[in-house]
Amino acid sequence: MAYKFKNWAGNVTGEAERYFQPTNENEIIELVKNAVAKDKNIKLVGAAHSWSALALPTHYLINLDKYSRVLNIDKEKKQVTVQAGIRLKTLNVILYENGLSLSNLGSVSEQSIAGATATGTHGTGIKFGNISTQIIGMKLILADGSVLTISEKENAELLPAVRINLGVLGIVSELTIQCVDVFNLRDASYALPFEETLEKIPELIQSTDHLKLWWFPHAPLIGVYRYFRTNEELQPRSAFQKFMDDSFLVNIFFVFLLRLGDWFPKTVPPINKLINKIHFKKVSRIEKTWEVFNVPMPPIHFETEYAIPVEHASEALKKLKEMIEHKKLRINFVVEVRFVKADNTWLSPAYKQDACYIGAYQYGNRYWKEYMTGFEELMYSFGGRPHWPKEFTPDSKKISNSFPEFEKFKQLKNKLDPKGVFNSALTQHLFA
Ligand SMILES: Cc1cc2nc3c(=O)[nH]c(=O)nc-3n(C[C@H](O)[C@H](O)[C@H](O)COP(=O)(O)OP(=O)(O)OC[C@H]3O[C@@H](n4cnc5c(N)ncnc54)[C@H](O)[C@@H]3O)c2cc1C
Repeated sequence: MAYKFKNWAGNVTGEAERYFQPTNENEIIELVKNAVAKDKNIKLVGAAHSWSALALPTHYLINLDKYSRVLNIDKEKKQVTVQAGIRLKTLNVILYENGLSLSNLGSVSEQSIAGATATGTHGTGIKFGNISTQIIGMKLILADGSVLTISEKENAELLPAVRINLGVLGIVSELTIQCVDVFNLRDASYALPFEETLEKIPELIQSTDHLKLWWFPHAPLIGVYRYFRTNEELQPRSAFQKFMDDSFLVNIFFVFLLRLGDWFPKTVPPINKLINKIHFKKVSRIEKTWEVFNVPMPPIHFETEYAIPVEHASEALKKLKEMIEHKKLRINFVVEVRFVKADNTWLSPAYKQDACYIGAYQYGNRYWKEYMTGFEELMYSFGGRPHWPKEFTPDSKKISNSFPEFEKFKQLKNKLDPKGVFNSALTQHLFA
């Protein structure tokens, strides 16, 4: 029976001929052989949290939720080997119990580890790379059913190629991740006026372990989220405060304001100013990593995100404000600004450059297309590279020009999967 596919945001829908949830590696290999024999295309899906159509299936759709165990924890080397379907939220807790931690996390931990790393999921902190940089080993099931092992000892030269793979090289079966000693996060956040924040960005980036900025357009303040790694005792929020932050304010009050702003766009600027007053308060707490890095699950919305060289961060935000004003857009969601250390992963938006990721988000589609077009133009003018799991215009020429190793990745893809068994329509177009 056909399987209906829908991603988290609901902007990508389709149908797979068949859906599988294998429980062991042999089953996965048999599925690949069977698909290839029948000339079927294979897509993997984790939590379907990508806005871009990377996981959109045509024939066979495979999900590894039942292939999601921790296989080994080496406490001495601080390394963990897992089956590819494990969700980050499960891994976080297991690592914590073993005195270890992922070095960084994004805004949620719902993702599968293979899905999160395939797209270069990142958190923030200029001294820390995206989550894919923590991969030191991978088992990849190829289109011919063979298993390619990549580690620091075997086929090590492929690590920079496979860490961000967009799901097109094969099926990631196992991953070995370099972890760090467990730590907590001290959250010392506050808000500053827009212009003052832009001036302080270079200093804030360097003096904060994990710096994130939230700006609601049309409003005067920027939320300056400053997280510091610490081994101090936990000083968590009260249960009431947690309920207010994670449930009431986001799921009820914010949703109400978003709908109001969507129906009556003139109310967006005053609403965003109100959010400044209510949401941007001085914070002091110490909590576990995922309780600070992760935010409450937001209402469904559109997202696009680009990485630009970090030195352009302030100028790009200034120009973004001008663009929104010039086009008379009414932007009801946050602009999110994060910082990621340079790496050597071929398809990484932070490839060989410390990066400032700017995310443009919106609830409702009234202004979305115009906002996204203006935003993408602006980001490209600063040397931007699209962040794969978010929405982006699939302009192959622009994209291949912005990733220096794009052609090299394409050659490897053609070598490992000459028939494009693991393509989605999107990647078929991008790598044509
Ligand atoms: C609410 C929300 C918050 C988010 N916050 C952040 C954030 O803070 N930072 C950030 O960078 N991103 C963020 N994202 C994006 C998210 O991290 C990525 O979309 C990530 O790829 C989702 O993981 P997934 O398991 O859902 O993968 P999917 O979206 O299901 O798949 C992504 C890609 O991985 C491939 N894939 C999955 N499993 C395998 C496998 N075993 N082998 C080979 N390929 C595989 C799929 O085919 C597809 O190409 C957020 C998304 C949402 C919805």
